[in-house]
Amino acid sequence: MTLEHKRVLSDADFEPWFEKAQKLSQLFREIGMKYDVENTFAYPTIKPFKESKIGALGIPVEFGGPGGNILQISKVVSEMSRGDSAITLAYNMHFIMFGIAMANMSDEQNKYWGGRVCGGELIFGPFSEQRAGFSGLADTRAIPQPGGGWKLYGKKTWGTLSEAADIITSSATITDAEGNLPEAFEDRVSSEMMYIADWSVDEDGNGDGVRIEKSWNALGMHATGTHVIHFDGFFVPESGYICEARTGLFSSLEWASLMFASIYYGMSQRVLEESRAVLSKKTLGAVFGAVAASDVKVAGVGHIIDGVGDMACKVEQNRRILWQTCNDLIDGYEDEWPLELRVPYIGLAKTTVAANTTHMAQKAMSLVGGSAFRKGTIFERLYRDSCAAMYQPLNADQTYTYIGEYLLQPEELND
Ligand SMILES: Cc1cc2nc3c(=O)[nH]c(=O)nc-3n(C[C@H](O)[C@H](O)[C@H](O)COP(=O)(O)OP(=O)(O)OC[C@H]3O[C@@H](n4cnc5c(N)ncnc54)[C@H](O)[C@@H]3O)c2cc1C
Repeated sequence: MTLEHKRVLSDADFEPWFEKAQKLSQLFREIGMKYDVENTFAYPTIKPFKESKIGALGIPVEFGGPGGNILQISKVVSEMSRGDSAITLAYNMHFIMFGIAMANMSDEQNKYWGGRVCGGELIFGPFSEQRAGFSGLADTRAIPQPGGGWKLYGKKTWGTLSEAADIITSSATITDAEGNLPEAFEDRVSSEMMYIADWSVDEDGNGDGVRIEKSWNALGMHATGTHVIHFDGFFVPESGYICEARTGLFSSLEWASLMFASIYYGMSQRVLEESRAVLSKKTLGAVFGAVAASDVKVAGVGHIIDGVGDMACKVEQNRRILWQTCNDLIDGYEDEWPLELRVPYIGLAKTTVAANTTHMAQKAMSLVGGSAFRKGTIFERLYRDSCAAMYQPLNADQTYTYIGEYLLQPEELND
């Protein structure tokens, strides 16, 4: 089935969901710095997040949920991200994976897994491969078992939310009985499956045929707990098969690109908020430089006034491109685009928001001045965290390639 983008949940009925997001956002804001410093998943958020059942917002009414649409989910993700982007990025994987899985699962699967998500369970999705990120065809092997189903062997290097999740959806390539991957490229593509299965690990990250290697150590986004996941005989029953992985991912990639855009829109709001809080009050005293005066308030300095104005414009640009792209999907405007451009045109929201936000986080560092460079300030934190925006799909370089290749086809030039 295709999960259509619709307007089902009214604005009034959406309000309590947004209030849940505001409460979680406040909690994330309060503890975010601690988990950035400790470089671990923000464990105290798991219980309140699950109990809020906010992860069920997008489950369609026919599968027991409230039927929130992609714009409403975007709004709750941005609101939580305004509180703390790293903690929210972890839970964002749930919204991404639920969206992609729901769009590709059978009604029976949707009813079963959707019901579990309505009960507060969380999904994570370690798809990316070490050698080629999100676009890497799965090296994880799914070896068919005599009684049906597959046993999985291999590893995924980007396993955000693995410590809090109850359900996994990921990709693996179906092999022959001896575990050999298909040799021909086309066979490899068609043998790569998207699956869904139960996920259960103990405190040390060990489960039946799986292990979390708690190795996350990166420039930013510390609280995401993006660990390496090892599969060593992890069993996936036949009922867990969803679809061919590439077909499924690309037909519903908006759940990845627009949810990532929502994270960075929320982050851009926070950059502006923190910059205003400092720059509206900061006084330099007596200075001799571009401005020479006995007592200089930075709020009166030209490039700082312009800089803050520019930030506010970028925040508003972010909101417009993100919300309008969500509305384009809901209103069916995407039908106007050539099919080949659907993915990159939707992805433009992500690449634009990401570029604006990384620019803003850097600009905030220079406008606030040297104090922003010190460890533990919100500005160096936002600067580090914003860098993650470059990597999540769609990345800007590949977006331009998709569009440029399409426009340079000879048949297009003849039009
Ligand atoms: C904080 C964080 C959390 C993440 N969490 C998850 C997660 O939970 N699940 C998950 O699956 N992934 C996750 N990712 C991984 C993310 O999706 C990858 O970073 C992304 O897929 C890009 O892969 P890569 O960074 O390894 O780069 P690579 O794929 O190695 O790219 C290297 C270069 O090659 C280019 N390139 C790659 N593929 C192609 C192609 N097909 N055509 C043309 N050029 C190409 C890239 O543009 C880049 O310039 C996370 C990333 C971050 C930063």
